Amino acid sequence: MSPTYDVIVIGLGGMGSAAAHHLSARGARVLGLEKFGPVHNRGSSHGGSRITRQSYFEDPAYVPLLLRAYELYDDLARATGREIAILGGGVMVGRPDSRTVAGALRSAREWDLPHEMLDAREIRRRFPTLTPRDDEVALYEKKAGLLRPENTVAAHLQLATRQGAELHFEEPMIRWEPYRDGVRVHTAEDSYTAGQLVICPGAWAPRLLTDIGVPCRIERQVMYWFQPRNGVRPFLPENHPIYVWEDAHGVQVYGFPAIDGPGLGAKVAFFRKGTETTPETIDRTVREEEIRAMADHMSGCIPDLPGTFLKAATCMYSTTPDEHFVIARHPAHPDSVTVACGFSGHGFKFVPVVGEILADLALTGTTAHPIGLFAPARLAAAPAPGART
Ligand SMILES: Cc1cc2nc3c(=O)[nH]c(=O)nc-3n(C[C@H](O)[C@H](O)[C@H](O)COP(=O)(O)OP(=O)(O)OC[C@H]3O[C@@H](n4cnc5c(N)ncnc54)[C@H](O)[C@@H]3O)c2cc1C
Repeated sequence: MSPTYDVIVIGLGGMGSAAAHHLSARGARVLGLEKFGPVHNRGSSHGGSRITRQSYFEDPAYVPLLLRAYELYDDLARATGREIAILGGGVMVGRPDSRTVAGALRSAREWDLPHEMLDAREIRRRFPTLTPRDDEVALYEKKAGLLRPENTVAAHLQLATRQGAELHFEEPMIRWEPYRDGVRVHTAEDSYTAGQLVICPGAWAPRLLTDIGVPCRIERQVMYWFQPRNGVRPFLPENHPIYVWEDAHGVQVYGFPAIDGPGLGAKVAFFRKGTETTPETIDRTVREEEIRAMADHMSGCIPDLPGTFLKAATCMYSTTPDEHFVIARHPAHPDSVTVACGFSGHGFKFVPVVGEILADLALTGTTAHPIGLFAPARLAAAPAPGART
């Protein structure tokens, strides 16, 4: 008896919704199973905005994937008519030898990406909202900007459904097992068979992927929205760029222009100051002292931003020891199972190209995209990432 589906996708958040789209676009019979409803706010793909940029300070190896992701994001906007990206430019700010600036410059040079280097005076002249110290510089990238995570997930789900994928919400996978040449997946409602399984569990990776040897630390992260002190106009996308800003101690903050209309403010967050948590126990309440610490930090670099605190929301990172992703065939089930996890707080800008890679791996067993950096074997002996302050 042949299996009911070609591919079952577990988790329909950022990565899984993109996989469901790319698989069904190639004619595969797809079943998607999601623990919560469509486009929810309990994982890692919510909060109204995500930064995208090409001069990638994390590693130049990501650049070809970013170039492809930009094309696919364009296709997605065109195919669905949704607002997916606002590319108003961005700056990576810090001392010249900081990871943020030196790393971005390395990627820009290695891949010949259009960019400009700005000294502190030029940063202040072009972007009057930003007040860098005299020893800080910026790499400016015209193509940087922001993505709309909820619209992206909704667009991928919409296309997948249109292409015949069957998507079940509020139906978590309980377990799976190898079955004949493929897999069998169990939920509380039913069990399903397929030739291939694609697991995109986000912050549930430590629970669902215990057997791939990836020590993944789940972190509680907070996003803050402030109403700027002197009105929102200087913070509109035409005046205020997205930024990643590293201080002399290596602490990075990032933020966005005011994109949601007057009164809804501009969003800012610390990049990596998370605390360890689990999806079951995460504290969704944001404390007064956390808000004060964020406002204090911002008054040093964007003094007009922390005018009035509007709201905050929590989200989860799934961080690997080297902060690189895990995208691969399952080491113990290389013929039938593909995994994508450990996106370490910087995965959203890659969502559509990860969908394409997962479809390649599930349907052909291989991909032409460069994913060597994401092999789980590199982490086999690594300890779980330690607590950061
Ligand atoms: C505050 C914050 C800011 C960020 N900023 C940026 C940024 O500026 N730029 C950037 O590129 N990236 C950013 N990221 C990272 C990026 O958003 C994530 O890497 C990305 O969203 C991860 O997608 P995912 O599909 O792995 O996880 P998710 O979108 O959370 O999807 C996982 C899904 O699996 C489902 N699931 C879990 N268990 C089961 C089960 N048993 N059965 C069925 N379904 C299940 C979950 O319900 C969930 O829907 C940020 C993340 C956070 C939290």
